[in-house]
Amino acid sequence: MKIVCIGRNYSEHIKELNNAVPDEPVIFIKPDSAVLRNNSPFFIPSFTQDVHYEVEVFVKIHKPGKAIPVQFAHLYYDEVGLGIDFTARDLQNQLKTKGLPWEKAKGFDHSAVIGKTFHKDELGPQPWKFELHKNGNPAQLGNTADMIHGIDEIISHVSHYFTLKKGDLIFTGTPSGVGPVAPGDKLEGTLCGRPCFYTDIL
Ligand code: MG
Repeated sequence: MKIVCIGRNYSEHIKELNNAVPDEPVIFIKPDSAVLRNNSPFFIPSFTQDVHYEVEVFVKIHKPGKAIPVQFAHLYYDEVGLGIDFTARDLQNQLKTKGLPWEKAKGFDHSAVIGKTFHKDELGPQPWKFELHKNGNPAQLGNTADMIHGIDEIISHVSHYFTLKKGDLIFTGTPSGVGPVAPGDKLEGTLCGRPCFYTDIL
């Protein structure tokens, strides 16, 4: 499986990182070695001094698709979940400055927290609200209504470049409020009020 991620998909987050609003979805990919499941702890890697959490809604692709039209994109996923796109912000800024790909800053081992998923019918129609709490305090409050590029548009766009396969995950971008983690922190995510993950930072 692969994890396709969308960057710069919420206006307020774009502002907090001083980025430009993109005309089309910004795409990057995390390898399957990035997966961190089952509420496993996250160990801060030695190559960064500034790892940020980015809470994101993800969808799980359940059948293969290539060049999927937007109007059929909803047929390609049933399960929706919440995860974290851990980002080595210091490394990412170095790479961005040099115009280099972000993979080392975004796709490193265990950088993708995969929380519990729910059938989209259980969540009901969008918009879906989601939250990240850090040490019991609200850190990020998101609403899928605030996405610049919606889920169906993302699936369609991504599938024009990468054939989607059963089990692939698409992370749909983070709202504002991203920030650093330190050893001892605890991150908890909820989607439509339902607990999805807790992650101890070590
Ligand atoms: Mg992200």
